[in-house]
Amino acid sequence: MKNFDIPIIYRSPLISAIKNQRRQQDKMKKDFAPTLLNLGELHIYLARHFGFCYGVENAIEISFRTIDDNPGRRIFLLSEMIHNPQVNADLQSRGVRFLQDTQGRQLLPFEELTAEDIVIIPAFGTTLEIEQKLQDIGIQTEKYNTTCPFVEKVWNRSAQIARKDYTIIVHGKPGHEETRATFSHAAAETPTVVVKDMAEARELAEYIRGHKDPAGFYTRFNGQYSTGFDVQRDLVRIGVVNQTTMLASDTQAIADYLKQTMIELYGLTEATVEKHFADTRDTLCYATLDNQSAVTGLLDIPADLAIVVGGYNSSNTSHLVELCEEKMPTYFISSEEKILSPQEILHYDFHTKREKQQTGWLSERRPVRILISSGASCPDALVEAVIRKIAGYYDAGEAVESLVESFGG
Ligand code: SF4
Repeated sequence: MKNFDIPIIYRSPLISAIKNQRRQQDKMKKDFAPTLLNLGELHIYLARHFGFCYGVENAIEISFRTIDDNPGRRIFLLSEMIHNPQVNADLQSRGVRFLQDTQGRQLLPFEELTAEDIVIIPAFGTTLEIEQKLQDIGIQTEKYNTTCPFVEKVWNRSAQIARKDYTIIVHGKPGHEETRATFSHAAAETPTVVVKDMAEARELAEYIRGHKDPAGFYTRFNGQYSTGFDVQRDLVRIGVVNQTTMLASDTQAIADYLKQTMIELYGLTEATVEKHFADTRDTLCYATLDNQSAVTGLLDIPADLAIVVGGYNSSNTSHLVELCEEKMPTYFISSEEKILSPQEILHYDFHTKREKQQTGWLSERRPVRILISSGASCPDALVEAVIRKIAGYYDAGEAVESLVESFGG
């Protein structure tokens, strides 16, 4: 995979050495077992895959290069570059301003923009409506577009099935930038509706089967269907695509469920199912699949606790937390600063959307076993900082130094 030129502050000599060694030993990416960092009384197990993905590194490279190449020009980002507070703050400190927040609320009016300005489109992509608005002002959108190719792949897949007259069901978080962008692209081609989870998929299936009053659909799915959507006409042929960072097992379960609904309703077989259900496998991105599989491999270790590092509004990170939580106490932290002491930690509960303080988070057991992973928008430097902070509680600072050498760094 391409090597990107990203600021050195996001890299970690330790994590790079580990990743390089694992890559050399497992070129086909078949081994999802974690890497053990033996630090005496502290055993850290690092997930096989975690951290910056292709799309994030690509977006960071383009953004910082744009800043370097355009001194004196006003540079805006449509919204957060990626869901990582450090990266966003670094861009803002270099003078970049955000036009919208992550929910699409306007922070700066588009009317302030001129044709001389640069507007960077983030890795999630954007809606056709916003792209048009920028082009109307005279802003070149293509040159500074960091939309991830794996998001574009979903749009292409949507367009393919739209051409065959399928309605598109998007499995995603309705307010998430990427889902709003995918919805916009899909809705330009064919009727489209967003479902956020299995509960909504089941409700949608009730309308597909005709078990519910069609009028109720428009209230229940308010804001989640395309203009002119006709619940009786537009749920006869469907295909499912997804936000690239959803939980793989959820997306699969929703697609399987809706497919089965069509099979039962229309008396189909595997050979005839395409009459009512399009095959759209593979719209999760490679990083989501790798990171989730690596967490599954990580959870084979009987550990005391898990730490997941990442931005609190990061979808892919919260799914890693969800997987870990099922097995053991899990702490979702945005940086090492959230580890207050060996007794106290501040961590994010994504169910209540609040940070909370936990006492007695580190087990007394020796060696204590800690699993660590991070989201696709989290710099490796943050993971190293977390490792170093915990190692400090076990007088293992020097042992961390020698680890870099032992992994060939
Ligand atoms: S998580 Fe996947 S789709 Fe999103 S930016 Fe990374 S590689 Fe692209």
